[in-house]
Amino acid sequence: MAQHEHVRVAVIGSGFGGLGAAVRLRREGITDFVVLERADSVGGTWRDNTYPGCACDVPSHLYSFSFAPNPEWPRTFSGQEHIRAYLEHVADTFGLRPHIRLGHEVMMMRWERDELHWVIETAGGATFTADVVVSATGPLSDPKMPDIPGLDGFPGKVFHSARWDHGYDLTGKRVAVIGTGASAIQIVPSIQPKAAELTLFQRTPPWVMPRMDRRISGAERWLHRTLPLTGTARRGLLWGIRELQVSAFTKHPNELGLVETIAKSNMARSIKDPALRAKLTPSYRIGCKRILLSSAYYPALAQPNVEVVASGLAEVRGSTVVASDGTEAEVDAIIFGTGFHVTDMPIADRVVGAEGITLAESWKDGMQALRGASVTGFPNWMTIIGPNTGLGNSSMILVIESQLNYMADYLRRLNVLGGRVALDARPSAVGAWNRRVQERMKRTVWNTGGCTSWYLDASGRNTTVWPGTTSELRKVTRSVDLAEYEVVRVPKQAAAPERSVVEEIVG
Ligand SMILES: Cc1cc2nc3c(=O)[nH]c(=O)nc-3n(C[C@H](O)[C@H](O)[C@H](O)COP(=O)(O)OP(=O)(O)OC[C@H]3O[C@@H](n4cnc5c(N)ncnc54)[C@H](O)[C@@H]3O)c2cc1C
Repeated sequence: MAQHEHVRVAVIGSGFGGLGAAVRLRREGITDFVVLERADSVGGTWRDNTYPGCACDVPSHLYSFSFAPNPEWPRTFSGQEHIRAYLEHVADTFGLRPHIRLGHEVMMMRWERDELHWVIETAGGATFTADVVVSATGPLSDPKMPDIPGLDGFPGKVFHSARWDHGYDLTGKRVAVIGTGASAIQIVPSIQPKAAELTLFQRTPPWVMPRMDRRISGAERWLHRTLPLTGTARRGLLWGIRELQVSAFTKHPNELGLVETIAKSNMARSIKDPALRAKLTPSYRIGCKRILLSSAYYPALAQPNVEVVASGLAEVRGSTVVASDGTEAEVDAIIFGTGFHVTDMPIADRVVGAEGITLAESWKDGMQALRGASVTGFPNWMTIIGPNTGLGNSSMILVIESQLNYMADYLRRLNVLGGRVALDARPSAVGAWNRRVQERMKRTVWNTGGCTSWYLDASGRNTTVWPGTTSELRKVTRSVDLAEYEVVRVPKQAAAPERSVVEEIVG
C-alpha cells in the first residue's frame, strides 16, 4: 500500500540548506518534519561532486555552520571528502537521521487550496502532505550538458564534472575538458599529469587568483579544540575581510583593477608563452564572473601535453571534437565542466501553486522571491538560496543561516496567527523587493563588468546574486514582516479559502 504521511514541515534536499533547516526546526522545538532527499545519502553538492581536486574555494572555517564549528578541518580549503564527512557528522550530531527519507525524489508538489497544505509526490510512490514546504534543492544541483551536435555518436567516454566516472581511468588517454569554470580549473591540474593529451575548450577565460591553501597544523587544531573562541575569532576574521570587499563588487568595480594586477602576475609566473597568455587573459572586469582560486591551474596549462582552444565546443564528429573556431582534436574522453541549471532549476517545473500554475511558469520572465524566499501564489512554500541570494565572494553558509532565521520566524508567525493558516507573499511586496534588488544591481560588477555569466538569466537579468553584504542580508531576513503577506485561512463551511488582509487578522 502506498505510504502517506502528514507533517508540519517538509524540507526538500539534504545539502547544507536542507540539513541546516532540519537543525533549525529541531531548535525551534518542531520535530514533526521530514527531509526528502532523492539520493541515497546526505551531502548535496559535496556528495555529488567527487571529481579529482574538488574542494571549497571559501576557507573551511567560514564554509561551515556557525552552530557546528569544526576544529579539525585539515586544510584551509578542505577537500570534498572532508566536507561531505562534516555534513554526515552534522546529520548524526543533531539527531537528524530519523527525519531523513533517502531515495525520495520529489516529483510534484501541489498546493491544495481547500486543505491549505502541500501534497508532495515522491518517486517511490510515497506521498506526503505538509503545512509548509522548505525547498532546499540547491542552485548548483542539476548538471547542465550543452546540446552538442554529434555527441551521441562519440565512441569514447563522456561525463559531467558533477557525475564523475571513477571507473574510467584517464591514464594515457586523450581528454577534452569543456569549460573553464570553478570545477574545470580544479579538474585540469589534477588530471593533466596522467592524461596523454589534454585539450581545454575555453569560451571565456576566467580570472584566477592564487589559492592560499595549506595544511592546518596540529597546534592550530589543538588550539581550536581546546579554546573554541579561537575558532570563532578565525571565522570572524575570514568573514570580516570578505565583508570589506563587497563595496568594490557592488558599488565601485573600478577598485577591482588592483586585483586584476595580482591575477595577471599569478598568470605571468607560469605562462611564459605570450600567445598562450593572450588567450588566457580576460577582457572583462575581474569579479564579473566568479573569481577563481588556483595556484595549480596555470602551471598545468603550461605543460606540453595541454592545448588551450580559445573557443567553445561546436560539434563532435566520431572521435573528433570540433571547436567553433574550427580547431579539431581526436580524443578518448570528453569531460563537461559546464555548470548547472541555475536560472532554470528543474524543481520549478514540479511545484504547482494556488493558481494551478507551476513555479517555472510564474518565473517565465525571471526568478524573483520576496527576501529570496517567498513567491506569490505559492503559500507556505519557501526556498533556501532563492533568487538573488547568491554571493560573489563569500560563504553560502552565511546566506543559508540568514534564510533559516527567516524560516524560523515565518513558522513562529504561523503559530501566533493560530489555526489552519497560510501566508502568501503579496505581489506588491515581491515587486517592491525585486525593484530594490534590481536597482542596486545596476552598479555592480556582475552587471557592468562586460561579461556574460551564469549569474544572468536568458534575458540578461541578474536573478542570482545578492547585491550587498552578508550583514545586510542577515538584517533583512531577521524577521517576517506580516504586512508583506496575505493571510489565507479556510473558513469553516466554505469550499474556497478566505483571503484577508493581515491587519484584519492581527487586529
Ligand atoms: C563543486 C562546487 C564547489 C562549491 N564550492 C563552494 C564554496 O567553496 N563556497 C561556497 O559558498 N559555495 C560553494 N558551492 C556552492 C554550493 O552549492 C553551496 O555552498 C551549498 O553547498 C548549497 O547547498 P544546498 O543545500 O542549497 O544545495 P545542494 O548541496 O545542491 O543540495 C541540494 C540537495 O537537494 C536534493 N534534491 C534536488 N532536487 C530534489 C528533488 N526533486 N527531490 C529530492 N531531493 C532533491 C539534491 O540531491 C541535493 O542533495 C560549490 C558548488 C559546487 C558545485
